[in-house]
Amino acid sequence: MDTRGKGKIMPCKLRILSTHDAQAVCLCGRWTFTAPGERTREHIREEWRRHAGAYKPNTKRANKARTMLRATYQNHPTRLVAEDVADALADIRHLCDERGFNLAELDRIAYQHYVAEKGATK
Ligand SMILES: [Zn+2]
Repeated sequence: MDTRGKGKIMPCKLRILSTHDAQAVCLCGRWTFTAPGERTREHIREEWRRHAGAYKPNTKRANKARTMLRATYQNHPTRLVAEDVADALADIRHLCDERGFNLAELDRIAYQHYVAEKGATK
């Protein structure tokens, strides 16, 4: 059943209508994107993530990680790939060695945070 426009807010989901004349909407109804000329899907997706992050705290957290990784690791010219995450994790291991941090303990704490944050938004 389509409940758009009947008072119920749909969850955020990107729908790219055109990259040629750059048009996209979010199914929540709170965001539209139009720009003159062509834009890549990745460009439109980046714009949409800023909107979605404002409504979903875990999306905002993922956006922070994505921004951090894209600033340093670019195994693909236009998008984040799994290899970027692997490279970052390897470098974090080197940093922990250098500083004497217990990576296994930090990962255990990080996992607890992740589980709590994931559970908080269900
Ligand atoms: Zn939305």
